[in-house]
Amino acid sequence: MASLRSYTPPPCARFLASSVLLLATATVLVAQEAQPRRPNIVLIYADDHAQHALSCYGSRLTTTPHIDRLARDGMRFSQSFVGNSICGPARATILTGLHSHAHGQGSNGPGFHNDLPTYAKLLQSSGYATAVVGKWHVSSPPTGFDHHAIKTGNYYNSTFRTEDGTEPSTGHVTDVITERSIAWMKEQSERDKPFAIWVSHSASHRTWMPALRHLAMFDGVTLPEPETLFDDYATRTDAIRTAQMRVSRDLFPAYDLKLSVTGKSILDNAATRLLDTMTDEQRRAWDAFFAPRNETYPGADATDAERTRWNWQRYIKNYLRTAAGLDDSVGAIRSFLETTGLTENTIVIYTSDQGFFLGDHGLYDKRFIYEESLRTPCIVSWPGVTKAGSTCDALVQNIDIAPTILSMARVPHDASMHGKDLSPLLRSETPADWRDAIYYQYRGTEPQARTSHLVAPHEGVRTDRFKLVHFEDSEAWELYDLETDPHELHNEADNEAFAEIREILERKLAQLRASYGVQ
Ligand code: CA
Repeated sequence: MASLRSYTPPPCARFLASSVLLLATATVLVAQEAQPRRPNIVLIYADDHAQHALSCYGSRLTTTPHIDRLARDGMRFSQSFVGNSICGPARATILTGLHSHAHGQGSNGPGFHNDLPTYAKLLQSSGYATAVVGKWHVSSPPTGFDHHAIKTGNYYNSTFRTEDGTEPSTGHVTDVITERSIAWMKEQSERDKPFAIWVSHSASHRTWMPALRHLAMFDGVTLPEPETLFDDYATRTDAIRTAQMRVSRDLFPAYDLKLSVTGKSILDNAATRLLDTMTDEQRRAWDAFFAPRNETYPGADATDAERTRWNWQRYIKNYLRTAAGLDDSVGAIRSFLETTGLTENTIVIYTSDQGFFLGDHGLYDKRFIYEESLRTPCIVSWPGVTKAGSTCDALVQNIDIAPTILSMARVPHDASMHGKDLSPLLRSETPADWRDAIYYQYRGTEPQARTSHLVAPHEGVRTDRFKLVHFEDSEAWELYDLETDPHELHNEADNEAFAEIREILERKLAQLRASYGVQ
């Protein structure tokens, strides 16, 4: 398969011929259906790509030029959230438009109800060609996809499981997922069916191994630390104190920080195995970059703050370098659509399974309802429909993706889906009865949900200004006024001045639980 950088558009003659064919096919369909051909839908899905790691969302750390260009061509949702900030459940939500308790996969363990209607099954049965390429992580096999190529392994030289068996790959996984997705779209562009592909990246998930071409990004630069890197959690309940996701102490030396140590922990031993999957050439370049820079690791006489700062710089640079591959992917896919004449009838959606703590509150990882983890990017380019460069401030959530995709494809969505159709918002028409709050749950029933990073199960509700959180095991509550306290440093749950607000939010949480059938 051609590499990402060497991708060559089809020759002009072929391009013209296929365009004529497409035009002819479209004309027939118009005659048959008296409406234009249904759009192709490309869902580019990132893993752990936080809003504040995108320049179009105001990142202080990096630039994402290709994703920014997508936002300039379409609509950016400024208030976009997830319903459960973790990988597997979020993917099951994309498929079903349901919160976790209803689709069954409450954590990264088993439980998905594969008999549910999904956007993929409904598109496929309505005549779309459907595919998913990349990370799956749903606890049942892909259903509703004409083609699947599911990644196994980590960042380098992954294996893909397809309907025809397993196929090895050489290269960085973000590039390979992009190349495989483009190859499938190219095949579809020569057929008369509309297509829908879920380009499901595994970047920028731990353990942040960038492509070799991105290693030099930020080298020698000191990135600006988040304001809350040394959060003392003064007014919070215990949940954040007991969680194991601190930049200061919970990043593994080899696995996370790329230091040259072995035999220290299960994950550090796993790092050795990951490096062993590299080709000799890849490994030489990797070691040549990290070995000399590892000499700067703070010595035994360093303070805790100095070590935390070193850990953060090392972590965030590799995270952002890995995310740079996502931006390249958006650029390559849009370049392909342009050179094949597909842009005008192809909707491109960019979103992530959740956000991520980029050292905010001293943390990495996600799971918590706090803003950096709860927020997720959501950008949609729908040529001829979305106003270029527009921003929507309505509260939207990942449960909305499935009903929206179905609406775009003019397929009736299943009424049992929890999400709302975003199409009116994409037409710059916000319905008067649009939601005034979102519901959140991190409460898997399997032991894994309670032991991963030791994040206590919790539920919550967020309005455009306030957030109420309930930690079930401890019966503890947190309440934040996001207008006056955007970093969520002042828990007002027991502040008498917020008693009325708390009552309103508790009532709202109960209403949302009832409306979504939460037990
Ligand atoms: Ca994730």
